[in-house]
Amino acid sequence: MPEYTLPLPQPTILHQPMWDAFKQHRLVVQRCRACDMMFIFAREHCPRCWASDLEWYEVSGRGRLYTYTTVRQPMHPAFNELVPYVYAIVQLDEGPRLPSNLVNVPIEDVQVDMPLRVVWDDVTSEFTLPKFEPDPDGLPRRMPHQTGATRVHASGVPAYTPAPA
Ligand SMILES: [Zn+2]
Repeated sequence: MPEYTLPLPQPTILHQPMWDAFKQHRLVVQRCRACDMMFIFAREHCPRCWASDLEWYEVSGRGRLYTYTTVRQPMHPAFNELVPYVYAIVQLDEGPRLPSNLVNVPIEDVQVDMPLRVVWDDVTSEFTLPKFEPDPDGLPRRMPHQTGATRVHASGVPAYTPAPA
């Protein structure tokens, strides 16, 4: 494995289970057993109902590109050789939005709402990063009149359904 020179995470006790799951190529989010809310950044209490009965929940690894920016001027010198790259916010089908990077797609082909699936980048023996690539099995871009439609992936996991505007 070539030496990885970018900054690495410094997990807290709260986040360690997530990094352990990533090492096993399992995409997990925290889920509140009381109200079913799922969220990305680990906490001790549900941000919606304040319950402390939380679990790590494995999601499908599929989603859509919620928004992105093309980074051409890195904020840290370690990223100088990577530019330009895509910093993405991925809307997982289960609801939470995950910051990540897009791979295996030319920057000029990146489009908001494109279907994505997780791929795993084992950057060191300790850390694996979830990244996203175009999902060839994903449904085509939603039309505005379809907003709110329920989608179900082959995995059987119900897709995220946005609330009516
Ligand atoms: Zn809750």
